[in-house]
Amino acid sequence: MKRIFATSRIGDPAENRLREHGYELEVFQGPEAPPKTLIIEKVKSGIDALITTLRDPIDAEIFEVGKGSLKVVAQIAVGFDNINRADANKYKIPFTNTADVLTEATAEFGFFMLGMLARKMYSSERLVRDGKWPSWHPFLPFLGDEVTGKTIAIIGTGRIGLAMIKKCSGFDMNILCYDPAYQNHNYIASIQAVMDLRHATGVQKERTWIKYVELEEAMRGADYVSIHVPLLLDIETDKPTYHFINEKMLKLMKPTAYLVNTSRGPVVDEKALAKALKDKVIAGAALDVFEKEPLPADSPLLDPEIADRTRLFHHFASGGQITRLSVDPDKGMAGRTAQAVIDVLEGNYGGDPAKMPYVVNKEAFEEK
Ligand code: NAD
Repeated sequence: MKRIFATSRIGDPAENRLREHGYELEVFQGPEAPPKTLIIEKVKSGIDALITTLRDPIDAEIFEVGKGSLKVVAQIAVGFDNINRADANKYKIPFTNTADVLTEATAEFGFFMLGMLARKMYSSERLVRDGKWPSWHPFLPFLGDEVTGKTIAIIGTGRIGLAMIKKCSGFDMNILCYDPAYQNHNYIASIQAVMDLRHATGVQKERTWIKYVELEEAMRGADYVSIHVPLLLDIETDKPTYHFINEKMLKLMKPTAYLVNTSRGPVVDEKALAKALKDKVIAGAALDVFEKEPLPADSPLLDPEIADRTRLFHHFASGGQITRLSVDPDKGMAGRTAQAVIDVLEGNYGGDPAKMPYVVNKEAFEEK
């Protein structure tokens, strides 16, 4: 009987699907991640498949003990910066992710974060809850900033960046796009055509626009900056994204601009951001991801002095019911993870990982 170890629960429907396939599934009940030593022990015991989350460091140490038995690592996330791709390739072990199914959920959450930050929804609710709402007033105790008619910079126009563009265009925003590696000009032209139609038919009062620009123009010109890049270290690429948003980049932004990050925590230099928020270099930031998760109690981002302009979330952008748990591989991360395991263990697609849709490191299996 084929054996699977999951470092986290992925919900009853997907877990049952794997069991119904006749696999023996052992699940670490959590809710925290298991220690790496336990993962090593399980892999060493000869499991066929390992289901991981972004909390598990997966590298040569694990692939080495899985030599000859471990056939797939299936990650329940689109980001895979916790998996050492070079090591997986060296040991020729396919690993999979859950791209696409979380795209819309992550983008809509990013947009809601932006709205919550700019329109000061948290501060507003606090007033009501704390009994500190004095009276309706034209501008006291504070005002928020609209998104309608404003300009957003989308940094990274991959799946989630493009979905964010779609959401922002529906809110009558102008859009500056930046991506050094992938530019989808057809998509951008389609969005412009929709914007033009909305304006021409009177659905939208002001004409809005979208264009690709260089990084500096995007950072300087935006009222909102939204980050949609993967975490890439300098050993992996000549365009690393580690601390991509640093003191220098923050200084390019308008003092009235807001930053939204739903990508990965280490993409933002948190110390530099906290200082920029304190010194009012930028107007605010909404963060779903952090350099260290959960966010340590002594993080400068928790400074009460910047609480009014800093919104913080628990890596929750993909956290919709269907997105996380649907057993349908075209809808849910759990369903896609289970299907990815099945594809490898059943030898679907002629048993060729290079042809399997959810395998990330196809290059390790492609014929040269
Ligand atoms: P994707 O690979 O489709 O898109 C990423 C884009 O970033 C690519 O087009 C790439 O060319 C671009 N890019 C790379 N380096 C860049 C740079 N230096 N500057 C600008 N652009 C750069 O990935 P995706 O599916 O859109 O996901 C993006 C990231 O979002 C994931 O890698 C993951 O880390 C994160 N994510 C977070 C959550 C959450 O819950 N907060 C959910 C899903 C994804």
